[in-house]
Amino acid sequence: MEVIQSFTIDHTHLKPGIYVSRQDRGFTTFDLRITEPNKEPAVAPAAMHSIEHLMATWMRNSDVKDDVVYVGPMGCLTGMYVVMTGDYTVQDMRELTISCLEWILDQTEVPATTPETCGNYLLHDLPMCQWECRRYMERLRNDFHCEYTALEVTLADGRVFADA
Ligand SMILES: [Zn+2]
Repeated sequence: MEVIQSFTIDHTHLKPGIYVSRQDRGFTTFDLRITEPNKEPAVAPAAMHSIEHLMATWMRNSDVKDDVVYVGPMGCLTGMYVVMTGDYTVQDMRELTISCLEWILDQTEVPATTPETCGNYLLHDLPMCQWECRRYMERLRNDFHCEYTALEVTLADGRVFADA
């Protein structure tokens, strides 16, 4: 069994920013890291759920909507994954994400929060979502990080452990 590529990064040296998590078969998975793993509180589930609805809505209505394959939260609640087709760099994604965050900060409601459109429609928190988005936007503007620190951990059975 191969180790998942994203487990090969050192999460103890991962700053908020935007990283290329993996590139394969014409798809690029971007790691939009919102909080500093294991050092800051992760994003609260309800706030992350609202970030997902808002970010996906913006990305899928933007100029690059045809290249957006997937937008979803990380299980560790420290960031979002955005999968793109086409040639996008972290700097392209930085500009796109800042535009997206600016839009989120202007919103007065979270889209698609009815029992028909969402699997857990009561789990939303727009004020906390916007607090996280404001801080992340300021970090993308003023303290941008985009290079992973590699980590190689070899397990007892010889497999290499790398976080998806
Ligand atoms: Zn939902």
